[in-house]
Amino acid sequence: MDVCKSIDDIRGAVKQLKAQGKRIGFVPTMGALHKGHLSLIRQAKERADEVVVSIFVNPEQFGPNEDFDSYPRELEEDLKKCESEGVSVVFAPNRDDVYDKKKYIRIEVDELNRHMCGGSRPGFFEGILLVVNKLFNIIDPDVAVFGQKDIQQFQIVSRMVHEFNHDVELIMAPIERANDGLALSSRNKYLSVEERETAPGLFRALNYIEKQIVSGVDTPSLLLKHQKSELEAKGFKIDYLDVFDKKTLQPIETLIKGKEFILAGAVWLGNTRLIDNLLIEL
Ligand code: AMP
Repeated sequence: MDVCKSIDDIRGAVKQLKAQGKRIGFVPTMGALHKGHLSLIRQAKERADEVVVSIFVNPEQFGPNEDFDSYPRELEEDLKKCESEGVSVVFAPNRDDVYDKKKYIRIEVDELNRHMCGGSRPGFFEGILLVVNKLFNIIDPDVAVFGQKDIQQFQIVSRMVHEFNHDVELIMAPIERANDGLALSSRNKYLSVEERETAPGLFRALNYIEKQIVSGVDTPSLLLKHQKSELEAKGFKIDYLDVFDKKTLQPIETLIKGKEFILAGAVWLGNTRLIDNLLIEL
């Protein structure tokens, strides 16, 4: 397995693979790899000959008061995991390899980042698009795999690929969960023992709401209000818990048959922000 730090090196490594006619699968990550990331690597392997993984804690997607400094960094362990998954190349650049000191050009997102995580994390998706745009240009993959866990990210990146004409196929991989239902996340490491026991409550609430919706509740606002109160009583602080249109990412008051929805929540447990979602097709 090749480990590349510089853009020249990763370009060279990918060029060599492409010269052999290999199809390139790409999995962008911020490291601290868990089974969710590994499932993305497996999906990429199924669809490509060689898999490239990037490991980069992207400063541009963290707000000034967010956890950039404390975000887990475990490069050695990550490289071992990538190696045992059969990854061909890891791109693990430093900040200065990726960004100039001063930037003159930004990407803006409209409407699609008004709600969900975009609503509570200003600049988050602009930061993600900046780095994903760069990574797509540097690596030029045939297929890239992202997780449903960050479904707003997937939808916004899909839109960027469409509007900027990136020549890449995007795959959304299902959410990998712990046995008790908690969506795996690098940030779960922040949870205390007590918080970890409470954390699957978010997934349980989503499941309960989904059941009610599937069995006929088509205006879920009261249902959502009750579930928020229940979660608050368990110690969660709610950022959002709502049903969104899968395409427009706008909140939906009345659910109509024949459409796809995202039932999504973001909550705080102490200093840890957790997100989760379910896709609902009526
Ligand atoms: P991150 O390292 O958190 O930026 O995540 C890198 C990729 O892994 C993103 O596409 C995430 O959506 C995906 N991912 C994170 N957690 C999970 C999970 N539990 N199941 C599936 N994919 C995940």
